[in-house]
Amino acid sequence: MKILVCIKQVPDTLEVKLSSNYTLQRDFVAQVINPADESALELGLTLRDKLGGSLTVMTMGRPKAEGMLREMLSRGADEAVLLTDSAFAGADTLATAKTLVGAIHVLGGFDLILMGRRAIDGETGQVGPMVASLLDIPCVANATKANVAGSMLTAEQLTEAGTLSWRCELPGLVTLCEWTYALRLPSLSGLRRAKTQEIRRLTAGDLGLAPQGIGLAGSPTRVIHAEPRPVGVRDCKRLNLPQLLEVLQ
Ligand code: FAD
Repeated sequence: MKILVCIKQVPDTLEVKLSSNYTLQRDFVAQVINPADESALELGLTLRDKLGGSLTVMTMGRPKAEGMLREMLSRGADEAVLLTDSAFAGADTLATAKTLVGAIHVLGGFDLILMGRRAIDGETGQVGPMVASLLDIPCVANATKANVAGSMLTAEQLTEAGTLSWRCELPGLVTLCEWTYALRLPSLSGLRRAKTQEIRRLTAGDLGLAPQGIGLAGSPTRVIHAEPRPVGVRDCKRLNLPQLLEVLQ
């Protein structure tokens, strides 16, 4: 079974700073792996251990994201791919999704693609469903657990109204909620292997993607303003259904 886990390096939440064009400032800011992506990786490792096959971690990011990929190799990933090119910079979620899909085609496709349900910096939760849509494969977003038996993927999805259970044929894509699968620690052999293992780097040219389809140039959306959330508790009122219907009329 070929498993892909897309992981994102995000600024440590307390330090999110935006540049003048409202893209994220990533220099001189502590970077961490996106919390939900840790759950995605552990689920992937557990399924690879159970079913056999290979697990690839992949990120679109700056060259220094290589450190994060090496850490994921030490925790058990078999391969690591870094999509890095100045043409990717400033991508919105559609341009990000297109870049990830371009790499998936170059890497030969996967049976199962796992992601976090949202990144804590941009926090749109759009990339997973967009990748699934571009690949025309089923997607279960906001999953709390998932399993594979034969060619069938089952997953439980967290919704406002409770939990929904889904089943679909592979290939499929699942985005995981944070803290659903605790990521294992690095092993000694993993640490040794991660030091020297080659990390495959792919540029926009390697993916055959036109510059106008990626990065800031290929992003149909722009963040035009951002401001910190007002401090303090918003005055929330609890309404029952009749009250809510009355307000909505
Ligand atoms: P999400 O969809 O929240 O990420 C979900 C999952 O996708 C991640 O857990 C990870 O598994 C995977 N993933 C995401 N990015 C990567 C990556 N680079 N490499 C590998 N896997 C990845 N863009 C918009 O299109 N619309 C917006 O409204 C928007 N608002 C933003 C607001 C702020 C404050 C900022 C800083 C950025 C915003 N962006 C927006 C840009 C957005 O952050 C980037 O498009 C980003 O590359 C992906 O969006 P996201 O972080 O929201 O991803």
